[in-house]
Amino acid sequence: QKEEWAKLVNEPSVTTDDHRVELAANIGTPDDMDGVLSNGAEGIGLYRTEFLYMGRNELPKEEEQFEAYKEVLERMEGKPVVIRTLDIGGDKELPYLDLPKELNPFLGFRAIRLCLEETDMFRTQLRALLRASAFGTLKIMFPMVATVEEVREAKAILEDVKQELLKEGHTVSDEVEVGIMVEIPSTAVAADIFAKEVDFFSIGTNDLIQYTLAADRMSEKVAHLYQPYHPAILRLVKNVIDAAHKEGKWAGMCGEMAGEETAVPLLLGLGLDEFSMSATSVLPARSQIRHLSKKETETLAEEAIQLSTENEVAELVNRKGFIVS
Ligand code: PEP
Ligand code: MG
Repeated sequence: QKEEWAKLVNEPSVTTDDHRVELAANIGTPDDMDGVLSNGAEGIGLYRTEFLYMGRNELPKEEEQFEAYKEVLERMEGKPVVIRTLDIGGDKELPYLDLPKELNPFLGFRAIRLCLEETDMFRTQLRALLRASAFGTLKIMFPMVATVEEVREAKAILEDVKQELLKEGHTVSDEVEVGIMVEIPSTAVAADIFAKEVDFFSIGTNDLIQYTLAADRMSEKVAHLYQPYHPAILRLVKNVIDAAHKEGKWAGMCGEMAGEETAVPLLLGLGLDEFSMSATSVLPARSQIRHLSKKETETLAEEAIQLSTENEVAELVNRKGFIVS
């Protein structure tokens, strides 16, 4: 099987009936790029920039960030690279940022909420990102978006930073797409409103599942409630994809679910455009997709969202032969 996968490194991720999707990789640092390239990822669907900020005593400088982003963009040689702005807070702390202690940090001051207040820190990251945009195909993504006001505010800051850079004589790409993570139920439910304000969505199921089922993604005690295949999750995912497509935008997924064997046929059937996963999952997922018919996965997805339980959904995918390995 490993040998069969290795042959697919330079092949497209295309179904038996010629529907092409993008299989991208999630990374945390430029050091992950060797694995991305050797596994034939067609893009970076999520670059978690938190690691640049962690394990140190002060904020990373613009220059250091610029070098990291530029390296990833250059090594992808024009293939799409989605870089997420700082998603700190929640469980991830920074010693040099004096964040408030909260009873429910996962519902608290984090990610875009923090960046919209700590604007100097946010602007430094956006400067580094926009400067790096000249070296490849950059897409900027904001995390933990709950309201349209947050999107507008973040985009206004981004535009202001861009004008500042241009005035200073820097080269900035005019084709930088701006998107959001859909990982809060309000955003998934009202996706049609958000779709008018952004270029793309990336569904963050790691958080979307925990918030939708109110089940902490770290808690063993409620792990049985953390259900990727709960019909509510599938319906939210469908709503997000449909809303994007209605506005001519694309929809991806960068949560763990995107690389799972059971999820791939369902997501394909729901119309997902981009699947972002750990690099080692790319070739198995490509192999699976190349055995599937888009038309058949559509029928599967329609049936799945009408079922009552996660077990019924998983069982259906299995019974109908969509797990090909
Ligand atoms: C997610 O929430 O699905 C996601 C990809 O982000 P993270 O795992 O970094 O919270
Ligand atoms: Mg998340």
